[in-house]
Amino acid sequence: MPELPEVETIRRDLLPALRGRSFTHAWVSPEAPRLVQAPSAADFARLLAGRRVEDISRRGKYLVFHLSGALYLVVHLRMTGALLHRPSDAPPDRYVRAILSLDDGSELRFSDLRKFGAFWLVAELSEVLGRLGPEPLDSGLTPSLLRDLTARRRAPVKSLLLDQRALAGIGNIYADEALFAAGLHPLRPASGLSDAEVERLHDAIRRVLLAALEDRGASFSDYVDASGREGRHQFRVRVFRRTGKPCYTCGREIERVKVAGRSTHFCPQCQPL
Ligand SMILES: [Zn+2]
Repeated sequence: MPELPEVETIRRDLLPALRGRSFTHAWVSPEAPRLVQAPSAADFARLLAGRRVEDISRRGKYLVFHLSGALYLVVHLRMTGALLHRPSDAPPDRYVRAILSLDDGSELRFSDLRKFGAFWLVAELSEVLGRLGPEPLDSGLTPSLLRDLTARRRAPVKSLLLDQRALAGIGNIYADEALFAAGLHPLRPASGLSDAEVERLHDAIRRVLLAALEDRGASFSDYVDASGREGRHQFRVRVFRRTGKPCYTCGREIERVKVAGRSTHFCPQCQPL
């Protein structure tokens, strides 16, 4: 699933290409009845047409298109969604569930094999984004705020990192990588971390996300950017999906456990319980 670095890469690609452009037409596949969460698919197409893109922002794993007339198009890519910006005469893409046409003749194509992706067209962003926790790369996320977030949770620290209401934008890849970078076992109870460990985690989250952004995200399975290209961070991970391979730091085999139903990768030596 695309996480903060992947969604942010798409945002940075799309912003210069789409700012100032207007949507002229929207087509949503009848085979993707759950794609448009609000309003109805017919109202979605009617309300989108003629709206200019004024800005594109990101909140957690959500992309937010700020449209003229005080409406927001919010997109969540979920498992396999991709937003591809193509000339209208470009060859068809696979699994296209929606095509949003623009006034310069280009198209924003939403490709989604698994069909979990979601669009909302809303006047109030809080309707969609209201329950998200702080942004991990914002200066507002200080070590002391992270201390407050961890102090209230006896759940494993890995679960805390995955909880979008605690921190927005981190998923399975970057949770595992941040815990390795911080030297913390994923099953440690969040509330049991010392102040020094919370500071290490704070620093690790930032370093891991910024490194992945530099690599334009990680393409372990389906992720591609707005041009259809893969990211490079899958070649630079330290533990994610490296079960049985030697730790780059100490040589011990990377292990895998389930935490909160998710495969979790860690080094038992560098991340003692
Ligand atoms: Zn190790």
